[in-house]
Amino acid sequence: MRLHTFIVASGALVCSLLLAPAADARAQSTDPSLDPQIQELVRSVDPDRLQAIVERLASFGTRHTLSTTEHPEWGIGAARQWMLEEMASYSDRLEVSFDAYDVEPGGRIQVRTDLRNVMAILPGRSDRRIYVSGHYDSVVYGDYDEDAVPQAPTDGQWDTYAPGANDDASGTAIAMELARIFAQSGLEFDATLVFIGFAGEEQGLVGARLHAERMVEEEVEITAVFNNDMIGNSTGGTGIVDSRTVRIFSPGPEDSISRQLARYIRRIGSLYVPGHEIRLIAREDRFGRGGDHTPFNQNGFAGVRFTESRENFERQHTVLDTPDGVDPAYLADNARVNVAGVASLALAPPAPGVSFNMLRRGGGYDAQVQWRQVEGAAGYRIVWREAWSPDWEHSLYVGDVTEFILEDISIDDYVFGVAAVGPGGHESLVSAYVRPPR
Ligand SMILES: [Zn+2]
Repeated sequence: MRLHTFIVASGALVCSLLLAPAADARAQSTDPSLDPQIQELVRSVDPDRLQAIVERLASFGTRHTLSTTEHPEWGIGAARQWMLEEMASYSDRLEVSFDAYDVEPGGRIQVRTDLRNVMAILPGRSDRRIYVSGHYDSVVYGDYDEDAVPQAPTDGQWDTYAPGANDDASGTAIAMELARIFAQSGLEFDATLVFIGFAGEEQGLVGARLHAERMVEEEVEITAVFNNDMIGNSTGGTGIVDSRTVRIFSPGPEDSISRQLARYIRRIGSLYVPGHEIRLIAREDRFGRGGDHTPFNQNGFAGVRFTESRENFERQHTVLDTPDGVDPAYLADNARVNVAGVASLALAPPAPGVSFNMLRRGGGYDAQVQWRQVEGAAGYRIVWREAWSPDWEHSLYVGDVTEFILEDISIDDYVFGVAAVGPGGHESLVSAYVRPPR
């Protein structure tokens, strides 16, 4: 603590010598303050609405990507049409559409398929996007008693019962409920928000991959992907009940943009949803399993996966994955963590990004941090931690400057980062300094 105080004082002094005026350079605690607008958004999450969406989606019998698109009440065609109309009914501010692809047979797509993601866009002041996603398609594997489940009114090979309530009507419900909350809030966001239900996840992340590739082609900037997949089950297969913790998976390395997103969500989510523990898992996904954040990661975007803490494998990809296995209160708390993270990030300016640089100063003993100005930023916050620690340990708000010297801090012993802070105090993701490859 003594060390930290010393750095604050001397750092501010050095900064003022370099880049006057820096009178507003001051120490801040690592906790941002609560924003009443975000608190109101978090309060707007409605467990009954979430559960109603899960039940409605399960009521289409199956949402298998290759299932019928002809029947008015059964199959993926009816389900996606309902999602489109439901989200369009929330607000005129939402631009709702099918994100459609003509997919040739290949892999687990055995026939030519009209694959459609269902997308609602809430335009922001800038074109950079933040995504909230779930996959709305479902699948069932293995044998079961066909007389004990609802019968398909059609005879297509892929039309048999596949309720997919927790996997992943639950994640789709979060995307749809957030579309309603953010669009109806009347708030203006810096980022454009995209609420999307992907198809073809169960065939190998097909809908998300096609969409991510389309975004690269169209040169769309994506700040973050909040992917929710199996997010409402609070009773694990062993019988253990856990409705107080949620997992966030993110791919490495340790200072990847996705890890910064995971740290950000834990910090902001814990502030607005106290008592709900966010468990960061330093892995891309569960062993042997995949999710729709991964195609975004592979195309250079930050993306994480939200998943319940305790899985029930008996109710995954089986006819037992019915709405009674979803806990609406737990699903709502996980939705609230999404709301807090998305709102804070969408109200903040973009991150400083790759302009971040580190230099040795003061004969090599001081750390000099440099970055380029970010449009919309009112100031910047520097963070750092011991190079063996998993999360940021020290924080200093340095005001509206683009470089700063931390005296007697060796750049070899710490990891450094910088975040842009907007006029309302909302912070961007941290851009960490990672030594470029030789
Ligand atoms: Zn899933």
